[in-house]
Amino acid sequence: MKRRDFLKYMGIGTAALAMSPESFCTEKLHAPLPHRSGRINLSFKPYELKLIHTFTVSKNSRTHTPDVLVFLEYEGIVGYGEASMPPYLGETTESVCSFLSQVDMTRFNDPFRMEEILEYVDSIAEGNRAAKASIDIALHDLVGKMMGQPWWRIWGLSPEKAPCTSFTIGIDTPEVIRQKVDEAAAYKILKVKVGVPNDKLLIETIRSHTNRPICVDANEGWNNKEEALEMVYWLAERGCTFVEQPFPKAMLDETAWLRERSPLPIVADEFLQRLDDVPRAYGAYDAINIKLMKSTGMHEAYQMASAARAMGMKLMIGCMTETSCAISAAAQLSPLCDWADLDGNLLISNDCYEGVKIVDGRIKLNERPGIGVNQSLTISI
Ligand code: MG
Repeated sequence: MKRRDFLKYMGIGTAALAMSPESFCTEKLHAPLPHRSGRINLSFKPYELKLIHTFTVSKNSRTHTPDVLVFLEYEGIVGYGEASMPPYLGETTESVCSFLSQVDMTRFNDPFRMEEILEYVDSIAEGNRAAKASIDIALHDLVGKMMGQPWWRIWGLSPEKAPCTSFTIGIDTPEVIRQKVDEAAAYKILKVKVGVPNDKLLIETIRSHTNRPICVDANEGWNNKEEALEMVYWLAERGCTFVEQPFPKAMLDETAWLRERSPLPIVADEFLQRLDDVPRAYGAYDAINIKLMKSTGMHEAYQMASAARAMGMKLMIGCMTETSCAISAAAQLSPLCDWADLDGNLLISNDCYEGVKIVDGRIKLNERPGIGVNQSLTISI
């Protein structure tokens, strides 16, 4: 089907093709833009994310997260994407910029050929998942804007099914933990980072301060299955809803052992990156935590969600510390998911995008086309 026929089929007038992102956001029609290159142009810019609090998990602490903002332009319409690189992913600003420098998007003259474009991007080099995700997100934003529709609608999802998001509390002193719990008053679920010797003190500090449900993420920080099982029962008695990545990812047999006995669902995070990891997680984990920076973006994330669902597994949509750009992109998938942990934009002080919101603790998808964001700070490329 030709693109214009497809748009007609989607109920979208061809005027949509000539609309800039701004015109979609203000719902005003504008005259066609004079510049029609017929080629997809890629540009990018490093952008360091500043964390509001020093963020500590079981393996490291940090105050900044490196990030690269990506722009795909086609006939005057710009799609936004980003690559966020927390240390454990192994990507850096230099590696992402080096990868993006190798991508020749001008070889494509039809952004709707997403499968072909993303296959090409994936074939350039192994790994580089965040770099690949940045192009995938920008391409989805571009195509959604050309269609005049948000991705949750293109995928046929119902926005009212978007779950509440948890808010992450990093490992810290009891005093700072109490302060963070107060700051997270708007969120109905707290995600607590554990995996250190004083795990129970952390949980008891939170429990002495709030009755809100919690979930825990050990970030591979536990290594004894009997102790882990005792801890999971202890957590279940304290209003915990699930346990994420209890053991190092190589301890698959121990994870399956724990899952068989656990009163709480066990969620795979570090264990699982891309689509071919989903069947490997089956049997050892009850659920998978999909993150765009691991999955190479929205295209494969949707495939992973479909595969996990087909195997009867539960789904979580998660994030890194990211701007509202990648968070809003991930949120498009959230109506498919049982749980969401999309708070990465709330942990930074220099978000340069404005997108989906959290209302009464729940993800509120908007009607903006693409991934649903506007720039809130002007970024010169
Ligand atoms: Mg995790």
